[in-house]
Amino acid sequence: MVDLSRRGKYLVIGLSSGETLIMHLGMSGWFHVAPIGDRSREADPHDHVAFVMSSGQTVLFNDPRRFGFMDLAEEGRLPDYPSLSAMGPEPLSSEFDGASLARACRGKKVSLKVALLDQRVVAGLGNIYASEALHHARLSPLRKASTIATASGAPKKSATALAASIKAVLAGAIKRRESPYRSARFKVYEREGQPCLRRACGGTIRRFTQAGRSTFYCPKCQR
Ligand SMILES: [Zn+2]
Repeated sequence: MVDLSRRGKYLVIGLSSGETLIMHLGMSGWFHVAPIGDRSREADPHDHVAFVMSSGQTVLFNDPRRFGFMDLAEEGRLPDYPSLSAMGPEPLSSEFDGASLARACRGKKVSLKVALLDQRVVAGLGNIYASEALHHARLSPLRKASTIATASGAPKKSATALAASIKAVLAGAIKRRESPYRSARFKVYEREGQPCLRRACGGTIRRFTQAGRSTFYCPKCQR
């Protein structure tokens, strides 16, 4: 292993052979790093891959639900690797803003929530934070994605607000991971039937299904 990085939801590992190992944790994948000489871990049927490192440590990939993924890209082939080459900008990078979001949503007939889960629009945004960002920006998950862009693909106010909201909810989530207090994580996610947390809104959070995934939103303050 010569370097380790991330693109969207993929881990990208450069190997000394020149190849690149591409991994996705799926829904339940995680790594267990066994200390050198430690044989205490019992065999687990969900340990699917064992990496024996030059240090002597073993890194086990464990994935009970088996949605995880691993592949090797040959040397020089990473730039045109299928799921990575078409991927949109990283949401916390300067390349991602209202203008790039509007360009990606221009003319799109799908709902705004479904567009946000399209990794070509923005990299790595998942189902929970798509709902949270739309609530933060006061935008309905039901509106068409094209409504945040002009006909020529220029950003409307809503595109600028949504890009800023995506950055804000992701930055907040990263910050919370570093904090010992895990309370009040989500404003809408898994809060169906509970009052909207926006001050003086008075709405009730609703849940429905879009493209097979749960969407949570407040019909009163999200338009
Ligand atoms: Zn509300």
